[in-house]
Order: sequence, then structure tokens, then C-alpha cells
Amino acid sequence: MHAEILSVGTELLLGEIVDTNAQYISARLKEIGVSVYRRQTVGDNRSRLTGAFREALGRASLVIATGGLGPTDDDLTAACLAEALGLPLEFHEGAWEDMLEWFALRGREPSPGDRKQAMIIKGGIPFRNKVGTAPGQAVFKDGKLACILPGPPREMIPMFEEHVVPLIKSTFMDLVPLYIKNLKLTGLPEVRVGEIIKDLMESASPTVAPYVSRGEIRIRIAAGSKEPGEAKRMVDGMAREIRSRLKEYIYGEDDDTLESVVGEIMTRRGLSIAVAESVTGGLVAHKLTNVPGSSRYFKMGMVAYSPAIKATCLGVPDEALRKDEAVNAETAVSMALGVKSLAGTKIGLATTGFAGPTGGTDKEPVGTVYVAVADESGTEVERFVYSGSRIDVKEYGAVRALYVLWRRLSRSGKNPELK
Ligand code: AMP
Ligand code: MG
Repeated sequence: MHAEILSVGTELLLGEIVDTNAQYISARLKEIGVSVYRRQTVGDNRSRLTGAFREALGRASLVIATGGLGPTDDDLTAACLAEALGLPLEFHEGAWEDMLEWFALRGREPSPGDRKQAMIIKGGIPFRNKVGTAPGQAVFKDGKLACILPGPPREMIPMFEEHVVPLIKSTFMDLVPLYIKNLKLTGLPEVRVGEIIKDLMESASPTVAPYVSRGEIRIRIAAGSKEPGEAKRMVDGMAREIRSRLKEYIYGEDDDTLESVVGEIMTRRGLSIAVAESVTGGLVAHKLTNVPGSSRYFKMGMVAYSPAIKATCLGVPDEALRKDEAVNAETAVSMALGVKSLAGTKIGLATTGFAGPTGGTDKEPVGTVYVAVADESGTEVERFVYSGSRIDVKEYGAVRALYVLWRRLSRSGKNPELK
């Protein structure tokens, strides 16, 4: 069996928004063992949308559409699917009750136009929308399954996971799901990772593929098997091999983030941290505090942007501040020591650099970032030069700061002399 995805909305055709729904659904269908053969984008136009449904249902066993489920006149998806299937739309009491409950919880009244959203295709199953008003729906006809979901990803994703995935699994019984593990690493350029695991990337099963995003690399290992446990065994074996080759760079798996992993280590060892940031403008503190429970170890973050603040609040010496506009190793180290002592924490972490697009000095070009970490056993500092926009430099710098911290924590954890 195979599937097609239909993305509905004129705003998609005009390039005003990016079609993240189709990407999300494609990725998830692959994981559960469904092949996607085609994806289409159609504007809010009755005849073209009805035609697109007819064609997709003529080819595929599963059609999933997103968008066009709202209350306004240009939201046509349910009507077009109904027409393509030759089925009427009917007012669905249960779907309407769910919507009334949604409005009541928020102290709001539905408008007359909202009733349109409770129109469900005859014989269809409404999916409750926990985040917004428009319900989704699924219809079976002639051995085919069509699902329509709201456009906003924050409504679409939970509905897809809660309703559509179980429905697909129970409808198409012979799917071979993929077992997937992601290894997360940072601190090494993608080309180096590619060289180190080149032979493994040629493996047909499990497949091994690296993906890069700002400052981080994810190595995705995937295998499918009808034999219970077999896919997991193959993936785990491959993960062990990759870990043995790249162990000092792999900080975690799947949902782990650098900030969650450092948080977990600091919690376990009863450590505390304070951060002084210049070039990253608070991004390191933001990332660290994204982790639930970070108040156990995160004590303070300071954005020390001006030289005067670096001097008065953190005790950075004048000579360091004068050199390359305070972008140098001494400044980074004294910022880390300064914030550590100011907050009375076990660890201080600091960044200084040039985010650009203009500025920099002969010695320290735009894109330079110094990261320093200070703890009870000493200090260390590293310099990096990144290319990209101002936002890229901030993001890379912040990820690098967390990586330097993680590396120091994991090394000190292996050395019983250090805490
Ligand atoms: P809807 O009212 O269901 O047509 O969807 C309204 C909003 O959902 C749009 O304005 C977008 O912000 C978002 N949306 C719709 N389709 C997509 C898509 N394929 N990918 C990402 N966002 C989308
Ligand atoms: Mg729309």
C-alpha cells in the first residue's frame, strides 16, 4: 500500500508559509512503514481541490490532507473530499458538543459560522481538536482511507499522533515499521563525521545517515523487520559501532539535547552554574533554562555586553578589554571566573565574540566566538570562527558553549580526582 499527502491553502502556493505539515507527515509515515508516493499542494479552490482528491484516491490507499478546515468560506477541504467520494456532509452532534466544550472552557461563545466545522462526511469519524476548534475527520470508502486535518501544525500534529497513526496501524495490518535511533553529536564538522562512518553509511540495513542543523549533527540509524526485536537488535549493534568511533562527540540519543544532558549531569553531581554572555546575548541561559528542573542548578545568567559592565560586574581587567574589543581568551576566562564568583556557583560559563555582520578586528574576524568555562579544578577556553548570519553566529556560539561545558563535565566525571 502507499499514501499521498495533500497540502491545502493558497498561502502555500504563494510561498507565504512553508509546508511543514507534509514534511512531518512524510517522516512519520516512513517510520510506521507507509511509503509516500506523491505530495501535492492545492490552493483554496473548489474544483482543483476536488480533482486533487479524486486523483489521489484513484492511486493511493491512504490520502492525508491538511489545511482548509476552518470556519471561513475559503475553507473547502471537507466539502471537496465529500464531493470526490460522492458522499454528503452531515451535521455531527458529537463534534459540535466537543466544540461547544472547547469554547466554554475558554469562556467564549461560538459564532454561527463555527457550526460549519461540525459538518462531517457521512460515515466519517470526527477527530476532536484539543488545541483549536476545527475537528479533523477520517472516511473509509472502497478499501481506501482519507483523513483531513487542520492546517496549523500545533493542531495537526497531536491529532495525527493520537488519531491518525493508530487508525493507519489498525487498517493496514501488514506494515513493517521502522525502528529508529538518533545519535546526537557536536564538536566535529560534518565532513569529519562522514569520513569516520563512511563505510557504515553504505549499509543497506540498518541505514545510517547524518543530518546537520546549526552546530549539531544527528546520525539516524533505521531498520525495518517483521521479526519482533530484530530491527532493534540491528540498530543497537550499529549504534554501538558508531559510538565506539565517535564517543567523545556523542552526547546523547533521540530526545536528548545538550542542555538536557548537561542538566542531568549537574543535577546528579549537585553542581551549580552561572553564565556570563556577550556575543550570545542570553541564548546560552535561554537554552539551559528550557530544561524542566533547571532551577536546581542554574543560578544566574548575565548579558554583559558593554566593556564597562564586563569590568564592573565581572572584574574583567582593562588590558583584556582593550585587546580586540574584548574578544579574546583572557576576557572570556575572566568573565567565567567573575560570574562564578558573583553567583557563588561551582561552574561559570562565558562567551565573547563578534556576531557581525560588520565589525571584527584584523586578528579576530566577524564570526569569532570565545567560550570559557571555569570550575573548581581550573579554567579552559576555546576559540571558534563561524560563518553565517548574526543569528547563526549566536546560535553556533551558544551550542558550542554547551558542548564545551558538556565535554568538561564528562571528562571530569571520568576522573575521580575532579568533582
Ligand atoms: P487552515 O485554516 O486549516 O487552512 O490553516 C490555517 C493555518 O495553518 C495557515 O495559515 C498556516 O499558518 C497553517 N498551515 C496550513 N497548512 C500548513 C502546512 N501545510 N504546513 C504548515 N502550516 C500550515
Ligand atoms: Mg486555509
